[in-house]
Amino acid sequence: MRILVTGGAGFLGSHLIDRLMVAGHEVICLDNFYTGNKQNVLQWINDPKFELIRHDITEPIRLEVDQIYHLACPASPVHYQYNPVKTIKTNVLGTMNMLGLAKRVKARFFLASTSEVYGDPEVHPQPESYRGSVNTIGIRSCYDEGKRVAETLAFDYHRQNDVDVRVVRIFNTYGPRMLENDGRVVSNLIVQALRGIPLTIYGDGSQTRSFCYASDLIEGFIRLMNSDYVGPVNIGNPGEYTILELAKTIQDMVNPDVALKFEPLPQDDPRRRQPDITLAKQLLNWEPSVPLQEGLSRTIADFRQRLGSEVAPSAAVR
Ligand code: NAD
Ligand code: UDP
Repeated sequence: MRILVTGGAGFLGSHLIDRLMVAGHEVICLDNFYTGNKQNVLQWINDPKFELIRHDITEPIRLEVDQIYHLACPASPVHYQYNPVKTIKTNVLGTMNMLGLAKRVKARFFLASTSEVYGDPEVHPQPESYRGSVNTIGIRSCYDEGKRVAETLAFDYHRQNDVDVRVVRIFNTYGPRMLENDGRVVSNLIVQALRGIPLTIYGDGSQTRSFCYASDLIEGFIRLMNSDYVGPVNIGNPGEYTILELAKTIQDMVNPDVALKFEPLPQDDPRRRQPDITLAKQLLNWEPSVPLQEGLSRTIADFRQRLGSEVAPSAAVR
């Protein structure tokens, strides 16, 4: 098949492209390099089945493809809040352009949605049927509400134009290739521990998240895309940890000498989050297999290699 991956030069998109290329597909990677980079797909650059196009999805594009994995959108609060109006344009105009493309060429369309559609949830863990508790006017709204509109667009193109859609709701995912300045918690804490500077914990660290390793998530993507179920389907690891527990785990694994530093909790930071993955288990026979410690040690090894000489002496031998 010829498969388009928007946001393909980013963290998750590049892992997805690796899987699709290994499976023998033709892959077109579309990216504006806002948070993605060429390095992530460099290994495929000379492969005749791979094509890299610098393009901003807020502008239309004409391509001929069989499937579209639509991932283009900054995922870290630091990056999506840097230019919130652009984040909304990417989610709304960008998703509309990609759905329009899917409609024209009759391609199956996969939307990377998010657990953020549940906002600061009153239901725990979160099943797909929960409609969420989202602030419409806060600093996270450009992303949360943007993704909610993206889901609405996907379902309206499905009902109105027969576009064959799949919608996944991704819970916090980490792994190799996250940017060192990504701003999300796992990469921040690992980079800080490796550099020997204090680990930043926002608030008192009692808020929870559930962390999924990238390869587990991508397996879920491929199973959902090739299933008959439209969605939405939660994909994430139900292992739930407080941010303080996560920080202490990374401190133990990388650098026990490093200090913890408490900083103010950002506005609208969800207090807890854990996926209910009953549906993914039933429909896709999917569940995560990489435990947190193992996923962290692979991610730490990747950052250690990329940071090179910046690694503090106390973190160098672990
Ligand atoms: P990322 O920031 O590494 O990747 C996003 C990619 O999209 C980057 O390569 C970026 O350059 C590109 N992009 C952004 N705006 C664009 C535009 N207007 N036109 C073209 N390309 C554009 O983030 P990620 O973690 O790989 O996330 C990928 C997708 O998964 C996003 O849609 C995100 O919302 C979703 N998601 C991720 C997580 C997670 O924990 N990683 C959780 C929930 C949802
Ligand atoms: N967080 C933190 N220190 C950091 C970065 C994030 O304590 O250096 C907290 C953040 O406030 C949130 C949690 O970690 O409670 C997860 O943040 P992230 O940005 O990774 O993802 P999201 O909030 O979008 O789930």
